[in-house]
Amino acid sequence: MTHFDDTNYYFVKAAKLMEVSERIQKLLLYPEREVTVQVAIQRDNGELGYFTGHRVQHNNARGPHKGGLRYHPTVDIDDVRSLASLMTWKTAIADIPFGGAKGGINCDPTTLSSGEIEEITRKFIQKIYEIIGPYEDIPAPDVNTNAQVMAWIMDEYSKIKGFTPAIVTGKPVDLFGSLGREAATGQGIVFIIESFLKDLKKEMKNTTFIIQGFGNVGSNTAEILYRAGGKIIGVSDVNGGMYDKAGIEIPDLIQYVSKNKTIRGYQDHTLISNEELMTKPCDGLIPAALGRVLTKENANDISASFIIEGANAPTTPEADEIFHKKNIPLIPDILANSGGVTVSYFEWVQNIQQFRWDEARVNQELKKIMERGYQSIAKIVKEKKIDFRTAAFLVAIGRVGRAVAVRGIK
Ligand code: NAD
Repeated sequence: MTHFDDTNYYFVKAAKLMEVSERIQKLLLYPEREVTVQVAIQRDNGELGYFTGHRVQHNNARGPHKGGLRYHPTVDIDDVRSLASLMTWKTAIADIPFGGAKGGINCDPTTLSSGEIEEITRKFIQKIYEIIGPYEDIPAPDVNTNAQVMAWIMDEYSKIKGFTPAIVTGKPVDLFGSLGREAATGQGIVFIIESFLKDLKKEMKNTTFIIQGFGNVGSNTAEILYRAGGKIIGVSDVNGGMYDKAGIEIPDLIQYVSKNKTIRGYQDHTLISNEELMTKPCDGLIPAALGRVLTKENANDISASFIIEGANAPTTPEADEIFHKKNIPLIPDILANSGGVTVSYFEWVQNIQQFRWDEARVNQELKKIMERGYQSIAKIVKEKKIDFRTAAFLVAIGRVGRAVAVRGIK
């Protein structure tokens, strides 16, 4: 199965349960537009650098296309298509006025200088500026892109179209970014975990977590969980993992990572491979790196009590079935990590209004949206006795389907 097949598998499973007509299913399954461009730059060593970039716009029935931009050697059109579709369902669950899109450039940022990444970014925008816009499609950060990359996007787009801060979200706070955006995905994940634990009548204090990935999503989730009383017993990044039953001092590790750019070499914790880390016993397992890390090969070895998808599409359908059979509740990406796009929405609103919210307001509004999303899905889980992912798709397909139906196709 391709990545897009995985996403569509979940879509079709829920659509059948809802008895969505074939006509609406067809309108919801496939992206509205896919653009692929070649980006050529002069490398620092004088050689030609040649990269393929994609922007996929999945659906805009409920508002402008919205979704991140990923720089990674695994980026291809199928992967971007799948991620774009997930954005449509995610914005619908958060009930914010956006559709779904995603972009990516196939490159390995670890082999590129900052100047080369800037040139790739600016050239990519020169190639796609006609299909993006504050009311058409608004990019944001994803794997290996950050506030600096978003600043280059805003600057390049503004050179072509005039001053347009709302063209992109996740910008630096000094350049029309929103307070709270950097930590928003992690903060949203923690709001979801708090609601989930409350349902289980469990406390955060001493609840143990293993987190795969220590970038924007992983490190912010770890820090906010740690401050809320959670015990982080394992973390990893692309260079491997560490494990300590006694708990890891997350604020100290974050300081180490800000200097060393990796968790490798930090203190005296047991070193462990990414694969082994995922199977260690814990209460909550949080994949927060790349897709397809929970598969039929390792799903039976997972000994977590629950799984929260910080990353997009970390679980294959086969693994999903196994977790369901093993009674391991799994909160899906389209709910769990929707805090990022939600605060992106707040940033877009602030840019359009030329008004700044304080951080307390951002987090207060985020909490409302995350809790509302969780409650609407948890209610269906209880009533229909189905898993969280199917329930999340039921909510999302209902909202997007109704918008598509009333807009019509003329
Ligand atoms: P990032 O680039 O900031 O961090 C990625 C992390 O994953 C890094 O620590 C990296 O070392 C690690 N990693 C990469 N390959 C790995 C591997 N094979 N094994 C273990 N770790 C590995 O990216 P991010 O923004 O934190 O995004 C992480 C995930 O969260 C992605 O799936 C992304 O789509 C999703 N997501 C991000 C946001 C956001 O706001 N940034 C929002 C929603 C979802």
